[in-house]
Parts: sequence; C-alpha cells; structure tokens
Amino acid sequence: RIIRVSRQGLDSSQQPGQVWCLRDITQQKLSEKMRDQFIDTATHELRTPLSNIKAYAETLVTCDEIDVEQQKEFCNIINSEVTRLARFVDDLLSISSMEMGSLTIERQKVDTERLFEEVLEKIEPLVQKKNITFSSELPEKMPEIKIDKDKIVAVLVNLLGNAVKYTPEGGHVTLRVKIEHSMLDFAIEDTGVGIAEEELPKVFDKFFRSADPRIQEETGTGLGLSLAHEVVQMHGGEITVESVLNQGTTFLVSIPLEGAS
Ligand code: ADP
Repeated sequence: RIIRVSRQGLDSSQQPGQVWCLRDITQQKLSEKMRDQFIDTATHELRTPLSNIKAYAETLVTCDEIDVEQQKEFCNIINSEVTRLARFVDDLLSISSMEMGSLTIERQKVDTERLFEEVLEKIEPLVQKKNITFSSELPEKMPEIKIDKDKIVAVLVNLLGNAVKYTPEGGHVTLRVKIEHSMLDFAIEDTGVGIAEEELPKVFDKFFRSADPRIQEETGTGLGLSLAHEVVQMHGGEITVESVLNQGTTFLVSIPLEGAS
C-alpha cells in the first residue's frame, strides 16, 4: 500500500493542533505505472516497425542497384513489420473492448483437426527461424467442439509463440492436447528461461514484461497473456502457469466445451 501523509497546521487564531491526512494512493500509483508502461510499449511497438518499413521502402524506391533477391528480402521484412504493427493494433483494440466489457465470444462448431492445423501452420515459421525442436501430442479422436475458434487460435498461438521466443537455441517446446469429458485441455511446455517465483503472479497483468534481460531482448507488448486469460475465462475455463527459473515454463489451459460464456 502506498500512503501519502500530509500535515496541515492550524493558524494562530484557531485552537492549537494539527490535522493529519492519510490518503491511500496505491490505485493512483498503479494507474500511473500502467500509463507509463503503456506509453513505453506503444512508442516502441509503433516506432520500431514504422522506421523499419520506411527505411526498407525508401531503399526499394530510390536504389537501382539492388537485385531481385534483395528486393524480395526487403519486401519480406516490410511484410513482417506490417504484421507486427497489425497484431499490436488488434491487441490494443481487444484490450480496450475488454476494459469496456464489450469483448464477446461467439461459440461455433469447430473441426478440431482444422483448428490445430491452423495453429501449427502459424507457429511453424517461428520454429523454423530458431534452432529449437517442437513436438505436438494431439488426441487420436478429434471431435467437433464448440468454441470461439479465432480467439482460441490466438490464445494457442500466443502461448506457443512465447514458448518459442523465450526458449534459447537448442531447447524444446511441446504442445499436448486432450479432449475428454467435455473439456479441451492443453499444455504448452518449454525448456526456456523460466519465470522467477515472485513474477509468476504478475504474468497475466496487462503490460507486464519481466525485467530479465533475456526477455527484454525479445520484442513484446505484455498484452498477449492478459488477453489469453480473459478469453479463457469468458469460455468458463482456467489458465495457470508453472515455472522454474532457468529450467522452463508450462502453461495449462482447461476449457469446458459447452457452457458458461
Ligand atoms: P510479451 O511476450 O509480448 O511480452 P505476454 O503478455 O505474452 O507479453 O507475456 C507477458 C510476460 O510473461 C513476458 O514478457 C514474459 O516476461 C513472461 N512470459 C510469458 N511466457 C513466457 C515463457 N514461456 N517463458 C518465460 N517467460 C514468459
């Protein structure tokens, strides 16, 4: 708790005495910290991709000496920076709907096989870029399930993306999925940098990013896990985390296939 104490003396015409005011400003300090974190993240996440896009686009426009291979490489960089910008804007919009209480989920019948194909397609390029191994254990029977497909895909991609991002070269990431007793359960396990015990309760907070330099050297906004938490809760499910610093992290998600929204 942060308590601001101020003392107000009384003037000589009044009875001698003092009034002490105690005001709990914890909430105010938390919002100030959150605002500063938001400004830092927004500045970085908007400025960095924009200046990269500008630099590569300018080179493409003005430089005649670049060959077709290089042109393709620059276009790929521009494309991935635009994707990064779009993801940040989408996350901000979702966080803002979450704050206003207008984030909704729309359960629809989903072909589970197609769902995991989509997730693995999105994760593959990230795994390819890094010298880590990835394995998935999917159920043999893939029944049709009723969830908000796009939002659950985003949760899975975020958790798997983090596992890949925060696992150094040579490490391993595993996705385990179970669908039984009307529950969709998945575990995402990595052998990465891990999370310090004192930071574990904060990982689902908006804008939280660990101060660990191995985390800071990767790009990120601190929004993914708070959105994942909200989406899982809106499905009536639960998301938890277990981690040992320098050994690895496991995120566990459990979602009822019908029911509370
Ligand atoms: P981002 O990855 O963009 O920073 P997230 O909201 O997805 O934001 O995650 C919040 C923070 O939780 C990360 O910055 C990191 O400190 C921690 N974290 C999340 N996943 C992992 C993981 N698999 N291993 C280690 N730390 C993690």
